[in-house]
Amino acid sequence: MYDCIVVGAGPAGLSASLFLARYRRRTLTFHHNSPRNEYAHGIHGFLGHHGISPAELLARGRDEVTSHGGLIIEGCVTRIERLGNRHFRVYAGDGNQDTRTFDARRILLATGLRDVTPDCPGFRDFYGVSVHHCPDCDGYECIDKRIAVLGSGTKTVGFALNLLTWTTKITLINEDNAGLSADDRAKLAAFDIPVRDQSIKALDGDLKAKQLRRILFNDGDSLECDALFFNLGTNPASTLHEMLGCKLDEDCGLVWVDRTRQTSVEGVYAAGDITPNSQLAVVAAAEGAMAAIHIHDSLIPSERKPK
Ligand SMILES: Cc1cc2nc3c(=O)[nH]c(=O)nc-3n(C[C@H](O)[C@H](O)[C@H](O)COP(=O)(O)OP(=O)(O)OC[C@H]3O[C@@H](n4cnc5c(N)ncnc54)[C@H](O)[C@@H]3O)c2cc1C
Repeated sequence: MYDCIVVGAGPAGLSASLFLARYRRRTLTFHHNSPRNEYAHGIHGFLGHHGISPAELLARGRDEVTSHGGLIIEGCVTRIERLGNRHFRVYAGDGNQDTRTFDARRILLATGLRDVTPDCPGFRDFYGVSVHHCPDCDGYECIDKRIAVLGSGTKTVGFALNLLTWTTKITLINEDNAGLSADDRAKLAAFDIPVRDQSIKALDGDLKAKQLRRILFNDGDSLECDALFFNLGTNPASTLHEMLGCKLDEDCGLVWVDRTRQTSVEGVYAAGDITPNSQLAVVAAAEGAMAAIHIHDSLIPSERKPK
C-alpha cells in the first residue's frame, strides 16, 4: 500500500513527488509520454531556471525525486478504482506488459492538458520557437515583431488585444469567417488589428532556425510575419478525474479543488494545468508542492496533531 500515487510526471507531479519523498511518504509516480510543452525550446519565466529546456527540467526533477527515495515508473494509468474510504486501486500498463495494479491511500492527479493545435503543413516545423499558444510564456520574445493570431470568436479578440502588451503589429486570422461579430471587428479596428477571413494552406520559413516567415493562404495570398499565436482550446490529457467522479469548476470546466487541493472526491487531490489557474510550469510546480503538503498532513494520525 503506497501512501500516495501521483499520476503524471510533469512539473506538478514531480514537485509533489519531491515533497512527498522529503516527508518520507511511500510514493509512486507514473511517468508516461510527453509533457504538454515538449515542443518548447525553453521554459520562460521559471525563476532561477528561465530558458531551461522542458526535457532538462523534468530530467533534473526525476533525479531529485529518486535521490530522495521516491519511486518513478514508466506506465500509463488506465483506471483508478475507489475500494473504500481512502483506499484506491490504480491500473497501469506500459504497452508491453499486462496491466498491473497498485494500491494507495491517496491519489494525486497531475495529468495536464493537451492543446488543440492548427492542422496545417509546417506547424510542427515552427512550434515552440516561432509558433506559440501562450502569450504569458512567449509574448516577451515577440516585442515589436509582426504577429499573426489564429482563432475564432470573441475569445480570440481578447487574446489578440492582450498581445498589444508586446507589439502593435498584429493581424488576426479568422479561419471560419463566421466567428467574429460586428462589435468584435470594431474593437479590433479601434486598435489597428486587421482581420483576414482566409484559411491557412501552410506555414513557411527557415526550417533550420524554426523561424516562421510567412503564412500561405488557400486563395493564393500570403502574410509576412515573425510569429504565430494560436488560441484553439485545450483538452484534458486523461479522463481519470471523470472516472473518479471529480466535480468540475463551473467557470472553466477544469477539475475543481478546495484550498488544500483536494477534489470533490475524498482522498483524491489534483494539481497543475488540469486545475483552474494560470497554466505555467512554475504555477504547476507550486501547486504540486501545495498538494503534497496537504496530502502529508491528511496522513498524519489525529493523535499526533494538536487539539
Ligand atoms: C509549447 C508550450 C510552451 C510552453 N512554454 C511555457 C513557458 O515558457 N513557461 C511556462 O511557465 N509554461 C510554459 N508552458 C506551459 C507549461 O508547459 C504547463 O503549464 C506545464 O507543463 C503544466 O504542468 P503539469 O505538470 O500540470 O502538466 P504536464 O506538463 O502536461 O504533465 C502531465 C504529465 O502527465 C502525464 N499523463 C497524463 N495522463 C497520464 C496517465 N493516464 N498515466 C500516466 N501519465 C499521464 C502526461 O503524459 C504528462 O507527462 C508551455 C506549454 C506549451 C504547450
